[in-house]
Amino acid sequence: MNWVGQQMVWIVISLAISLTLTWLFGMLFGNPLLGLIPAIGIFILMSYYLRKRAMARMGGMGGGGGGFGGMLGGGGGGINYVCISCGHKFKGGACPRCGSKMRRADF
Ligand SMILES: [Zn+2]
Repeated sequence: MNWVGQQMVWIVISLAISLTLTWLFGMLFGNPLLGLIPAIGIFILMSYYLRKRAMARMGGMGGGGGGFGGMLGGGGGGINYVCISCGHKFKGGACPRCGSKMRRADF
């Protein structure tokens, strides 16, 4: 099974668990609305866990495939630096304005 299919299966499983919990807690409290509260909590936890798993997978692939990794990278194109001597913003090894290699990363 491919990765997207696996995610879909997990989403369906977490939805099924949430629905079952909604029904169960609804029975327990005698109010289906009260059952929604823990179910939503479980659903959020599940999706958080899934995202963490997806992140770990992206990291393991060595930055391939965009997705979450691309969003974290901030649009790609490498890191911007600010020259410490003159304050010029640039990319790469040395400041193109004054030639200084004293630079700090700018986020
Ligand atoms: Zn400079």
